[in-house]
Amino acid sequence: MSAHPAVFAGHGSPMNAVEDTDVRRAWSALGARLPRPKAILCVSAHWETEGVAVTMGEKPGTIHDFRGFPKELHALAYPAPGSPDLARRVAELLKPEPVALDEERGLDHGAWSVLAALYPKADVPVVQLSLDSTRSGPEHAALAARLAPLREEGVLVLATGNIVHNLSFYDPRRSEPYDWAARFDAKVKALIAAGDLGTLADYDGLGPDTELAIPSPEHYLPLLYILALRRKGEGLAFFNEAVESSMSMTSVVVGG
Ligand code: ZN
Repeated sequence: MSAHPAVFAGHGSPMNAVEDTDVRRAWSALGARLPRPKAILCVSAHWETEGVAVTMGEKPGTIHDFRGFPKELHALAYPAPGSPDLARRVAELLKPEPVALDEERGLDHGAWSVLAALYPKADVPVVQLSLDSTRSGPEHAALAARLAPLREEGVLVLATGNIVHNLSFYDPRRSEPYDWAARFDAKVKALIAAGDLGTLADYDGLGPDTELAIPSPEHYLPLLYILALRRKGEGLAFFNEAVESSMSMTSVVVGG
């Protein structure tokens, strides 16, 4: 049975939603290449909750969860419909885990900055799944694995964060990576290629660069949601393989 590809996208600056960057061009090309999904389940670094939640609204709004960017970005709307059916399906798959169905929550910039390039017409329904901040890495991976049937149902699972994300070191004038950032990114890539989800999920054990690369886990954790959906021996491909300053844009497509 064919399974829809699953994608982890390093999202970086919200400006990638509107600027003609290499990163954005790769997102557009990916959207054009992937089979058209029936719906999208998005896991973003920018929605953390205690316990698990999904967006349930028919028309999720566009959340501008940042400050100090150009008006153009604050005005951008991504009017994709929601999908209460997909929200209910996610809740069913995650049973007996209680899942809050949030009718008010919209799409955050981790979701729409990537989606605006992947599906610019905003015509594929989108549901967001929150990151449960009470959960350990291995617990996130175990939860994510239960979403595997969605791939058979034509749903694109799209996770967005950054493998290395340390804003206190980030310098937009510096395109070269810090040594620790490049080392950590290379290490994680090797573990992804080796299919070692156990080591990646228990990220505290990733060595001395971890503290700088993952000062807080929310940008790293979405990666686990995609890797947990990889079937045994299934192919994967990296894209946007770049580390800029203290941020890795490294992204991965599983199964496609
Ligand atoms: Zn972010």
